Amino acid sequence: MAGKSAETLRQVQAQIKDACDLLGLDNNYFEILKQPLRALEVTVPVKMDDGTVRAFTGYRAHHNDVMGPAKGGLRYHPDVDFDEVKTLSMWMTFKCSALGLPYGGAKGGITVNPRELSKDELERLTRAFTRAMSDFIGDDRDIPAGDVGTNAQVMAWIFDEMSKQKGRNMPGVVTGKPVSIGGSLGRTEATGRGVILALREAAKRLGIDTKGATVAIQGYGNVGSHSGLCAEELLGSKVVAVQDHTGGIYNENGLDAKELADYVAKNGGVNGFPGSTKDITRDELFALDVDFLIPAALENQITDENEHLIKAKILVEAANGPTTASASKKLWDRGVFLVPDILANAGGVTVSYFEWVQNLQNFYWSLDEVNSRLERLMVEAFDAIYEQHKELKIDMRTSGYVIAIRRIAEAMKLRGWA
Ligand code: NAD
Repeated sequence: MAGKSAETLRQVQAQIKDACDLLGLDNNYFEILKQPLRALEVTVPVKMDDGTVRAFTGYRAHHNDVMGPAKGGLRYHPDVDFDEVKTLSMWMTFKCSALGLPYGGAKGGITVNPRELSKDELERLTRAFTRAMSDFIGDDRDIPAGDVGTNAQVMAWIFDEMSKQKGRNMPGVVTGKPVSIGGSLGRTEATGRGVILALREAAKRLGIDTKGATVAIQGYGNVGSHSGLCAEELLGSKVVAVQDHTGGIYNENGLDAKELADYVAKNGGVNGFPGSTKDITRDELFALDVDFLIPAALENQITDENEHLIKAKILVEAANGPTTASASKKLWDRGVFLVPDILANAGGVTVSYFEWVQNLQNFYWSLDEVNSRLERLMVEAFDAIYEQHKELKIDMRTSGYVIAIRRIAEAMKLRGWA
């Protein structure tokens, strides 16, 4: 995994370099942006339920904070390593900037399989990690959020432990909290909703009617399921295929997105869903003659080996880094309109930003206010990236990086960093 993470890091650096060159920036900017400004590795000893002590390794990286406090998720997964955390912190800088949010990028993680820990062990691990990070994170410094393997309960423990450490109530130190203790309405579904808003804008530009259009989704967790639900609700499209870690399902007449979400919540995956007429594999899903393809599971799913299978007109990167740089270029060159992750899945961090603002103001918004502000920011970001892709004749991913880096470079210049 370390090798794979290091390769992804090199790909992101190449993307940053291309955007800096397109902007005609001198090398000073790339020198600063090619790695995180600071990163911390900690050993977290935890007393397990059987009385033994296990030492876990945790990480947090701040890529860049010229635009504001650093922001990014916290991942609990056995494959987490320092390079992965660093790369993910870099994506966050550009995602926040592309959306115009006053944040830099951060990411953190612990190398652990959370499913192997009891709830008490998970709480002790989270609190010990929070204490180890207590001078590194903060509501004016670095604001973690949920990610793969962490959830609203983990965020609640971090909020509580930081409040104890600092002697004041600090709900704004993390986002993705339960609504009853300062979470925002609309945060759970925000990423999937943003994915579908970006898809709607792309379809509009390409003159594709979304009503009755067909959608295939990889992954039906938080992001995949809300993408499916919003595709039905906001676009009138039908989800015909879904694949996840348990299997793949298909129905040409459409799978009911809500029934499927309920089924996955109960059974842990899509396998065996009664509304399916045929089982399919991952690559069979990618090869379907659908209008829209939404990878919403993991990194590096669409590669040089399988990119040629894809027939969809629009590919929306709901996951982070689902398409390798080389496959992404080939898809674009043969006419697949690819909406890049730094735009497509930015709805999550956008509503996290709203949560933080509400916490700092102690003033809470209605669901309608959250959703309409999310829509405004997603549409503005899409417009800016689309217009520039047209003007410079570059793909949407490069355009996203150019927009993001232009803003960051201007801030670095004004603040005298470069
Ligand atoms: P999740 O854990 O809720 O869901 C993950 C999904 O991926 C599940 O359906 C799982 O079955 C599927 N999956 C796992 N391994 C697989 C495999 N080998 N093959 C096929 N499917 C597999 O996670 P999530 O929050 O929905 O995140 C999904 C992606 O979206 C990640 O890349 C994450 O970083 C990104 N993302 C999430 C958010 C958010 O707000 N949750 C925001 C931005 C980006």
